[in-house]
Amino acid sequence: AMLKVLSTPFELGGEVAYVSASIGIAIFPDDAEETESLIKHADQAMYSAKEKGRNCFSFFSSSMQVMAQARMQLGKDLRGALGAGQLMVYYQPIVDLATGKIVKAEALVRWNHPVRGMVDPAEFIPLAEELNLICEIGDWVFKESADKVKALCEMDLDCVQISVNKSPRQFHSGKTQQTWIEYMENIDLPASCINIEITEGLLLDNHPEISEKLMLFRDGGVQISLDDFGTGYSAMSYLKKFEIDYLKIDQSFVRDMSIDPGDRAIAEAIIVMAHKLGLKVVAEGVETVEQLELLIAAGCNYGQGYFFARPMPSDEFDTLLANWNPRIIRSG
Ligand code: C2E
Ligand code: CA
Ligand code: CA
Repeated sequence: AMLKVLSTPFELGGEVAYVSASIGIAIFPDDAEETESLIKHADQAMYSAKEKGRNCFSFFSSSMQVMAQARMQLGKDLRGALGAGQLMVYYQPIVDLATGKIVKAEALVRWNHPVRGMVDPAEFIPLAEELNLICEIGDWVFKESADKVKALCEMDLDCVQISVNKSPRQFHSGKTQQTWIEYMENIDLPASCINIEITEGLLLDNHPEISEKLMLFRDGGVQISLDDFGTGYSAMSYLKKFEIDYLKIDQSFVRDMSIDPGDRAIAEAIIVMAHKLGLKVVAEGVETVEQLELLIAAGCNYGQGYFFARPMPSDEFDTLLANWNPRIIRSG
């Protein structure tokens, strides 16, 4: 009932405003006997309610506390990870479907934790965002990638561009775009060798500084990809407004393309629409020859996925490039 009352739109300075609430519940004396820990537990339950999506409530449970503690420990470890040399950049090839050549790669960060081993970015990137470590990590991934693509260019390979993921948070603080462009100038790397992958959420953020920062990249010659396309709002007007270069079809559509006509229709429609708007399309998560053939038939420009290769360390990527047979995409 509280949630319902709070979610009713109201007027604020002549405009309609919406709020939502996330409620955490801890019960005395079962969950804690002291006020302080009772509030702390209610707080943890509130965070879990937030994670379920807005407008929810959640009761405290002891597993929440265990999880919260594990997260705190991981956060502490993450603060020292970059300095301790535990982060690595893996590269995954992106194949031109017309020629079968590896023409690009995506940089994907990895954390080699001294105790836990490899930690997935899906687990530590959100943490890095929360702890304000994402800019530092992102800048490092960018520099590694810039140095890498510079080396590839000097070897005269087909692979001439590396994509770097950029969280919305990285657009909010500081002057990264300026520093990134300066870094590329300093190492004498054409800006076209770097591609920045952003998500739709960023474009829906109405801050004028976001579009200014994106424009700065564009004017500098950096290309821009819209990641995970089809899973968010897919607000088409943004595609023109922000002059995006590539759409990356989300892997959920690619995965079920060969078995689900609905997903196949979505993937094909994204490709047609992108081409009409003058954008190129990258299919993510290509795992089977069936998916690949459907994508080629639909006119998709690039493919990325385990069918070609998994993300791999820098030196393995060099070996892959040196031995890559472009016909591989035809023979399966
Ligand atoms: P993403 O940008 O959508 O990256 C693609 C993810 O799909 C990667 O997961 C990749 O390993 C995985 N993948 C590639 N091919 C296949 C396939 O054929 N099948 C399946 N099932 N998966 C495939 P990964 O490396 O675990 O990264 C997860 C997410 O973490 C990325 O999703 C990206 O959002 C984020 N991330 C990774 N590195 C960075 C970074 O340096 N900065 C930021 N801000 N985010 C990053
Ligand atoms: Ca990406
Ligand atoms: Ca993606």
